[in-house]
Amino acid sequence: MTYSVPVKDMLFNMEHLARIEQVAQLPGFEDAGLETAQAVLEECAKLCEGVVAPLNVPGDVNPSSFKDGKVSTTPGFAEAFKQYAEGGWQGLQHPVDFGGQGLPKTIGAACVEMLNSANLSFALCPLLTDGAIEALLTAGSDELKATYLEKLVTGEWTGTMNLTEPQAGSDLALVRTKAEPQPDGTYKVFGTKIFITYGEHDMAENIVHLVLARVAGAPEGVKGISLFVVPKFLVGQDGALGERNDVHCVSIEHKMGIKASPTAVLQYGDGTAASIADSAGPGAVGYLVGEENRGLEYMFIMMNAARYAVGVQGIAVAERAYQHAVQYAKERVQSRPVDGSVKASATIIHHPDVRRMLMTMRAYTEGCRAMASAAAAAYDAAHHHGDAQVREANAAFYEFMVPLVKGYSTEMSLEVTSLGVQVHGGMGFIEETGAAQYYRDAKILTIYEGTTAIQANDLVGRKTGRDGGQTARVIAAQIEKTEGELRAEGSAAAQAVADRLEQARTAFLDVVDFVVAQSRSDPNAVHAGSVPYLMLAGNLVAGWQMGRALLAAQALLHKGQDEAFMRAKMATARFYAEHILTKAQGLRDAIVDGGASVMALPMDGF
Ligand SMILES: Cc1cc2nc3c(=O)[nH]c(=O)nc-3n(C[C@H](O)[C@H](O)[C@H](O)COP(=O)(O)OP(=O)(O)OC[C@H]3O[C@@H](n4cnc5c(N)ncnc54)[C@H](O)[C@@H]3O)c2cc1C
Repeated sequence: MTYSVPVKDMLFNMEHLARIEQVAQLPGFEDAGLETAQAVLEECAKLCEGVVAPLNVPGDVNPSSFKDGKVSTTPGFAEAFKQYAEGGWQGLQHPVDFGGQGLPKTIGAACVEMLNSANLSFALCPLLTDGAIEALLTAGSDELKATYLEKLVTGEWTGTMNLTEPQAGSDLALVRTKAEPQPDGTYKVFGTKIFITYGEHDMAENIVHLVLARVAGAPEGVKGISLFVVPKFLVGQDGALGERNDVHCVSIEHKMGIKASPTAVLQYGDGTAASIADSAGPGAVGYLVGEENRGLEYMFIMMNAARYAVGVQGIAVAERAYQHAVQYAKERVQSRPVDGSVKASATIIHHPDVRRMLMTMRAYTEGCRAMASAAAAAYDAAHHHGDAQVREANAAFYEFMVPLVKGYSTEMSLEVTSLGVQVHGGMGFIEETGAAQYYRDAKILTIYEGTTAIQANDLVGRKTGRDGGQTARVIAAQIEKTEGELRAEGSAAAQAVADRLEQARTAFLDVVDFVVAQSRSDPNAVHAGSVPYLMLAGNLVAGWQMGRALLAAQALLHKGQDEAFMRAKMATARFYAEHILTKAQGLRDAIVDGGASVMALPMDGF
């Protein structure tokens, strides 16, 4: 099954929703207008379609393997990663000073999407490396930056994120890995990390682990966690690779999906390294990032970047599943159409229910892509705008969007990839068809980088409760403005979308009031509805962006531009409003009225 990058839709979002020409006015992004975006996307599409996508099925069938402490990735991955790195793609969004291309997230996010559509397992290596780069840029000393950044940005080395331990998953307060200060200012790290994506592999010369650990005597809980750089190979003053550090891969996991991406158990300083001739000795040499005990704060910066990217992974796998399903629906002949338009069995795309499934897949995917695109532009303004107030407003918007992009887009990817299997009927359940892989691959997206419940806790606590619902209400006011524009446009489609948006926005505001009012007095009731609140908010914001898209498409249609694309966009926006936005009211009722029944059963009643 081939994959074709939806460049047109990506550029439409950039131009009309993210307003890339405004992004190109920001200092540092002067060359990053629509023309640049188009050139970059088309070039990236060649690599994704031609080199990375063909490795998707081979990665599933012949995943990474582990032998004698070494991980071998799927044949072809290392060569593809070399091409990716040599093409400068790892550095797309990173500073020019460290060898990057310094492009805005507005463009970068589209490239992240296509790489992930092509191959989720492959794309995880660059995704984690981006996170490591982000953490070093934010909190690393000049020396750490000088030693590691350029190598990471150019893709010569890769990065990992080491948070999870057997007893510490969602709850990082339970991290036990130890770091002992050494007289020379370095630390020796001891402990076990599990589930470390690309924790060991054969695609790059060195692996730079970003590790959460506790310095001896640090306070209990999250306030006693520090962040360290622990390279697989130590790096000399001259930048050359030196001794093997005492961090070793003990095993890799057998997984439900993303099988080609190695998920490693890493042992830091178990002493066995003493027996390894070329090792620096027991204890993995680590370098403190920033200050002691502020590790979680830095890691959150990295996680915010990674959470957004995981949301984009959801959009990516949904797009791929959609394309696959459309192709099958146009080929598979089964049953007579109910409207008698064909007098014999016809392709299944004739059947209204198959159309409903395809439209659902398409609307969710386009809606979430539109939401992610608008969020990316806010990120760029939050970091680059000259006016502090504008930066602040955009930062608040972006921060609110991160749990939605992550939580909503990944949950929707499960629905979309499941529908993708359903469109294929029995063949969807048969691995050889390929639809099942997307479903299996998508499941991890609602779990890592914080489960959906953890995203919802973030939305309820940090993003809604902390400012008394102010950011949520500002967003609702912007949505109301779009409703006005839709009504002014006057077409039946615009009117239908405005009506549904208004209902969903009102439902959202009820829930915001409920969350703000009850967070202290009835935290169980609020958290019983936290994931539904996240779903409602994501549903609304994606629907809002589809409403904006409809307005833009209608205006462009009047100008005679690309009729087929504009009409499809308008139909999809209307479908989203009528079939997806309408779920908002049910979510509202469940949250506001249904908290008590969630907790009604005593624990021993289960
Ligand atoms: C393939 C794969 C790759 C991964 N890659 C990495 C990596 O590169 N680096 C890394 O550090 N980790 C990685 N992880 C770990 C991943 O981030 C964790 O699995 C995830 O954060 C969940 O933690 P857990 O598995 O311990 O589940 P738990 O925390 O035990 O959660 C179990 C259930 O309880 C719920 N729950 C827990 N706490 C709360 C709460 N406060 N409120 C509501 N519900 C709650 C969860 O939502 C979930 O449904 C990876 C995991 C996998 C499977």
